[in-house]
Amino acid sequence: MVTRKLGGTKTRKTEGRAITIVVFGVVQGVGFRPFVYRLARELGLKGWVKNAGTGVEIRLEAHDPEDFERFLRALKSRKPILSRIERVSSAPAPFRDIADFKIRKTKHGGSFVFISPDISVCKDCLKEIHTPGERRFQYAFTNCTNCGPRYTIVRALPYDRKSTTMAGFPMCPDCAREYGDPLDRRYHAQPIACPACGPRLSLFIAKTGKRIPGGIPEAAALIKKGRILAIKGIGGFHLVCDPKNERAVRRLRRIKDREKKPLALMAADIGTVERYAFISPAERRLLLSPERPIVLLAKKKDLPGIAPGLDEMGFMLPYSPLHELLLRNIDLIVATSSNQKDAPLMKTEEEGVRSLCDFVLTHDRPIEMRSDDSVVKSAGGKPLFVRRARGYVPYPQPVPPELRAGAVIAALGGELKDTISLYKDGYVITSQFLGDLDDYRNFQYFEETLAHLGRLFGAKPDVLVTDLHPNFHTTHYAEKTGLKHLKVQHHYAHVLAPLLEHGVPPGRKVLGVALDGYGYGADGKAWGGEFLIVDHDSFLRIAHFDEVPLPGGDLASREPWRMALSYLRQAFGKNIPLAGSLEKIDKRRVQAVLEMMERGIKSPPSSSCGRLFDAVSFPCGTAPFEMEYEAEAAMQLEAAATVMTRAAYPFAFLDETGPFRISFVPTIREIIEDTKLRTPVGLMASKFHNTLVRAILAVAERAKRDYGTETVSLAGGCFLNKRLLLGTERLLGRNGFTVLRTEAYSPNDESLSLGQIAFALARLRR
Ligand SMILES: [Zn+2]
Ligand SMILES: [Zn+2]
Repeated sequence: MVTRKLGGTKTRKTEGRAITIVVFGVVQGVGFRPFVYRLARELGLKGWVKNAGTGVEIRLEAHDPEDFERFLRALKSRKPILSRIERVSSAPAPFRDIADFKIRKTKHGGSFVFISPDISVCKDCLKEIHTPGERRFQYAFTNCTNCGPRYTIVRALPYDRKSTTMAGFPMCPDCAREYGDPLDRRYHAQPIACPACGPRLSLFIAKTGKRIPGGIPEAAALIKKGRILAIKGIGGFHLVCDPKNERAVRRLRRIKDREKKPLALMAADIGTVERYAFISPAERRLLLSPERPIVLLAKKKDLPGIAPGLDEMGFMLPYSPLHELLLRNIDLIVATSSNQKDAPLMKTEEEGVRSLCDFVLTHDRPIEMRSDDSVVKSAGGKPLFVRRARGYVPYPQPVPPELRAGAVIAALGGELKDTISLYKDGYVITSQFLGDLDDYRNFQYFEETLAHLGRLFGAKPDVLVTDLHPNFHTTHYAEKTGLKHLKVQHHYAHVLAPLLEHGVPPGRKVLGVALDGYGYGADGKAWGGEFLIVDHDSFLRIAHFDEVPLPGGDLASREPWRMALSYLRQAFGKNIPLAGSLEKIDKRRVQAVLEMMERGIKSPPSSSCGRLFDAVSFPCGTAPFEMEYEAEAAMQLEAAATVMTRAAYPFAFLDETGPFRISFVPTIREIIEDTKLRTPVGLMASKFHNTLVRAILAVAERAKRDYGTETVSLAGGCFLNKRLLLGTERLLGRNGFTVLRTEAYSPNDESLSLGQIAFALARLRR
């Protein structure tokens, strides 16, 4: 009992009080219990802390209830860097007059424990690896409870050392002491290691497999000499070379069979990045964040061959101790994922990494789960994900209470840029980017990941959700399991993803704008420029881009000139003006493609927005004859759109019964006029972007008039185009609309699985 002054006049003895606090979120395996222990001792509180089920349970005893408040405030403001608090609940408990504060042993058995993503090396560990005399001086596998690999090394639950890929490294006495000391930064850090007991590096010649002496400094010297190295990191191997050595870059491109696809760079520090790119405050925060993504930045000084034809380059800062040490020897490297075209990145030497390089710098800590580097841009101060993987997966996504269900749901996404989302107990975990499942190696990666997520979250799906497309591998996979199987239209799932992320409750009607390359429509046609009135239960297609033929089917999405011809034919009929870049195409090929469309052979109609971009990019002179990577022509058109103007091209609404069509025939006609007048490409590209933005606003105004929708959900890969996205957000915002988009997920097909979960939850609720 203590005596305390209250109000300055009276003195009163207070009874002891006790509360139980339950913290739910990413709180296990991230140093949360030792943090609570230190905090309670600092505040003079008694009680205990333990891992319990899905979170951490804390019992506190005090004589002044104010102390509980103080504790709760500090709990939220000072929580460990890797933790994420989703929910805190507290309830009175019987007072037992406990004498001290303890960390209680955990009996595992939580059915759903959140695992942290792989997080970049923390500043305490950094200091150690750079301080001579420290036990871990220059040790490439240094980590602690605040940093290091997690998602990529866990094999199963419960999350402890023996169920990670560190199982084969018994702790030395020094590490064991740190591991067992609640006041140590490495208390219960499962991947704890040191040079005496942990993983080791080795360097060898790729061709012969012969080991050579040396490690990081020798690897750096080889890079400087123009050699190509494969370096094993956190989620897989990088292919590395000197970006200032054009010969080395060209060779790397030949090896990867990629002539133009942008290559990512890793820079020693922000100062180095600043020499080559402009960095806004929001971009700086992203670069320095513990997730350490690749950030796409506006070029300041170009490095030839890194991102040809584009106005941005991708930079990341070192995220593992190995990278930190390497980048002390060389200020800038190309660090691109080690994969053969369209295959997943490699995680073991056996997968063929030696055939891609001259030397291999590897180590003996196995990678359980591959994970690419995440790629992000900053748009309007908020992240815009191009690819979400390492550093972000598997952060949980809470689901609004009205949508929660008892079932376990696995959403398998689509086919290109696939991800898997798993729903359990009110949360969704979305997997890392898995690539295009049409390649059998990526499909194996898909199966690996589905099994991995199931093990990690103790989840056996009761329900599977896929795209409507009858021939996607994911659809076939779901059919074969015999489980309950729901299908969702592609663009409907797209626009549901932002609603789930932002916690929009069911029942609210929203205008969904889904602009992408291709999705299987409810009528079996190729959709891609879609305006849908949606809630969680259903959608109504109110408008779409007017359809044009895709001459040659899939070929039309690789060869932009085909789309240009298709739009020109629609705009000009038989008198197609073949000027400018169109002149350069072989006349016979032009004739063949026109005939194909005339006779309706291999020319399915499509309302794709991606293909409209291709069609416009070609006469503007920003599209290649054949695209090497997806959206290449659109990205070049975006990069060209540098002129600040409010001018736009005309478009038309074609009204009829059912959904109305947005025709770009007037747009195309004027673009051709502009090319004849030798209008600068920058102006044409800017005007085209403005045209789309205005078309979106015009549909939003109609939807508001007819359906009362004031919120607009933007989704689909076309919204990776910053000029289109920001222009749309600004114009809709100025006109009173609330605009939603994904901020923690990519707007492209990576977020399909998230939207599929939203649909399935609503369906199960009914
Ligand atoms: Zn650390
Ligand atoms: Zn050790």
